[in-house]
Amino acid sequence: MFKQEEYAPLLGNEEYSPNSNLEYILPASQDFIMNDLMQLMPQGGLPATDMLLLPAELEDTIDANTKFELVTPKFTPVSPRGPPERAVFAGELDFQVEINASDTHKRKYLYSAILNRIYVDMKTNFSVTYRWAAGRAPAPLYVRSVVVFSDESQAEKRVERCTQHTHEVTNTGISQEIVKNVLHSAREKGTRGVYYCGRADEADSWLSVLVELPPGAAGAAGHAYQFVCKNSCSNGINRRAIDVIFTLEDASGHVYGRQAVGARVCACPRRDISRDEEAEGAARGKRRAPHDAPPRGKRPRADDDAAVALTLPALQVIGTKTAVTGLEVMVSMMEQAASFKRNDPQATENYNKCIANLKSQIEKLKKS
Ligand SMILES: [Zn+2]
Repeated sequence: MFKQEEYAPLLGNEEYSPNSNLEYILPASQDFIMNDLMQLMPQGGLPATDMLLLPAELEDTIDANTKFELVTPKFTPVSPRGPPERAVFAGELDFQVEINASDTHKRKYLYSAILNRIYVDMKTNFSVTYRWAAGRAPAPLYVRSVVVFSDESQAEKRVERCTQHTHEVTNTGISQEIVKNVLHSAREKGTRGVYYCGRADEADSWLSVLVELPPGAAGAAGHAYQFVCKNSCSNGINRRAIDVIFTLEDASGHVYGRQAVGARVCACPRRDISRDEEAEGAARGKRRAPHDAPPRGKRPRADDDAAVALTLPALQVIGTKTAVTGLEVMVSMMEQAASFKRNDPQATENYNKCIANLKSQIEKLKKS
């Protein structure tokens, strides 16, 4: 839509190179990039994008500086009809979605890699990082996010905001495709490059948020979102599990890649993530049926040291419970590893021997 050169005058910086990666590369530390960015950018001169991955607390500061008036051709986004496709694929542009879960003590959201699920309270910003092969990508590119019920038997049902939150006073004057969508961009309504798609009054029109990726981004960009309903909202999500489906698209709506992340919107993310991960661990321990496939989308790790049996030194720990819990974790891990090696009779036998031995030690400890 824009030529990259058009951005240089906007910055008021003669040395700005439209091909510079600095604005968009996301290093491990966001604080680091923010310091660098602020030094690089002249006053009032962020490039014309709302897609930088920013710490939530800085977003307001930046917002005030990004109000450029550009005369641009009007873009009318595609609004897909019918239940969204779910099959995830990276595609030719190697589209990946990451939730930044580091530094979580400062953040009000958590991400479970085991469950591929984000835990966040309502109206709390969370950042999503997109990665793609920029060299091969057409421009402009967009990422569409749409919320669906995880259970495929509910696939035909559109996820909508509950009655209570639909009728919040703050929704006055806001169009229905925004009000009814449980997922919002953290950006102000009307921000350039952020589009709310779908028609709330047409049942087969799915509600989605479409975000334009920054022109010139070197294959990585982030955007902050928030949920505006909880999982527990009655007559809305109504305690059903939800996923967010992200699709990398061009302006015509052609899908280059698709990824999905589960979401739990709740008042106590920390409590719920521990509870769900524990439940998953227990379930995995029980799932030892020979035909049990590894969870979809998660590859079993190539664990080359798995075959090596170790003899631990005589270790001292305080408390029977500590010892039992520690050994139980080992059993659970070996059971999981064994399930990935079920086609290898020798490995299976080795695992079973170790597991049986540990279990008998656990029983002895419990009786002591
Ligand atoms: Zn609600």
